[in-house]
Amino acid sequence: MHFSADEDFALQLDAEDPLRDFREKFCLPLGKDGKPLIYFAGNSLGLMPKSARAIVEEELDNWATLGVDAHNATGTPWYTYHEALREPTARLVGAKPLEVICMNSLTVNLHLMMATFYRPTKSRFKILMEEPAFPSDTYAIKTQIAHHGLAPRDALVLARPSNGEFTIQTEDIVDLIEKHADQLAVVMFAGVNFFTGQLFDIKRITAAAQAGGIVVGFDLAHAVGNAPLKLHDWNVDFAVWCSYKYLNAGPGAVAGAFVHERHATNTKLPRFAGWFGNDPNTRFRLHLEPEFIPVASADGWQISNPPIFSMAPLRASLAVFDEAGGMEPLRAKSTRLTSYLEFLLTEIGSKKFTVITPRNPDERGCQLSILAHEHPKELLRELETAGVKCDFREPNVIRVAPTPLYNTFHEVWRFTRTLAQHQ
Ligand SMILES: *Cc1c(COP(=O)(O)O)cnc(C)c1O
Repeated sequence: MHFSADEDFALQLDAEDPLRDFREKFCLPLGKDGKPLIYFAGNSLGLMPKSARAIVEEELDNWATLGVDAHNATGTPWYTYHEALREPTARLVGAKPLEVICMNSLTVNLHLMMATFYRPTKSRFKILMEEPAFPSDTYAIKTQIAHHGLAPRDALVLARPSNGEFTIQTEDIVDLIEKHADQLAVVMFAGVNFFTGQLFDIKRITAAAQAGGIVVGFDLAHAVGNAPLKLHDWNVDFAVWCSYKYLNAGPGAVAGAFVHERHATNTKLPRFAGWFGNDPNTRFRLHLEPEFIPVASADGWQISNPPIFSMAPLRASLAVFDEAGGMEPLRAKSTRLTSYLEFLLTEIGSKKFTVITPRNPDERGCQLSILAHEHPKELLRELETAGVKCDFREPNVIRVAPTPLYNTFHEVWRFTRTLAQHQ
């Protein structure tokens, strides 16, 4: 891709952007000057689709006017509300509809998947994960290990960047899997690392783990809605994600889980059960049918009835993804947007900043993690003053995530101009 540092060039890229009208579909938070902030924090909390308000109000109205009858009302009855999310979700993660379920929140889903897939034996009891991982995942995995009466120091294998590096080579991950193959029960990796923005080779990690007879799962919090996914074809065993980051479904919105067809249809797999994982034909026989009969799909891991008010905005948001044509056109713009950001950062010079995210667009999503060599806290303040919303990780990393649905090339240009002025 050929880029230029001129402002006109940024404006030209925006004019040529086939997705430029999608920005209009989102509520853009305003700065003190009344102008939209340069919102690069979609990796933390995605912006609200304007269509979310009406869809939530519709359910408030249903509650107000129908009460309990809204469970079986026409339209999108609450009783089966999760089904409205199934197909668009499956499209986003490259799954068959029966392999996905929207339920709970992310860390809860991770625990539920581990309850099924982490079955340590005397010889196979280890879990491999990356470091640094998102803290919640580390807490979850360590307590899963302890829950089975094992010690994390014996059972946890960590894949770390080599000395002096920030990202992890796929070869090193594969080597580590092979080294511990006989003892590993589960490989549990991120799709995109929250800190560095590195997109891992899900297909290769999956193949390497399964060659050793190891179950493999992914936390796709920073990957879903950001990078193209083919979970079914890649043969991933299970995956979990949240939907308030790149999926723009709002704070604490319902999360998702993927269970590969070969497991999803296996009703013999152990799991933590609740009535909504039960066969709908016998679900309401309550005291008459005390035996749990799981649905032969990812629905069999659902425990409770669907949280309507946290699902409604996700419906609105998934419709926007579909309208944009799915991940392919979004990824095409995203790759340009982030490569343009990288180009402009390189123009400023590497003395001030180091991008710790991989340079290869195939090894990252939209986020760049920028290590500021000098006065990082002052820089953060300068960015805030300039109307940039991004985030900061101690001691000196600024994470910026220009997203293809609502960010522009001109915003990227303005952002880097602020960086260039930093002393
Ligand atoms: C955002 C994020 C979480 C947050 O977990 P919740 O259960 O949704 O609060 C967990 N893990 C990763 C990797 C994340 O990026």
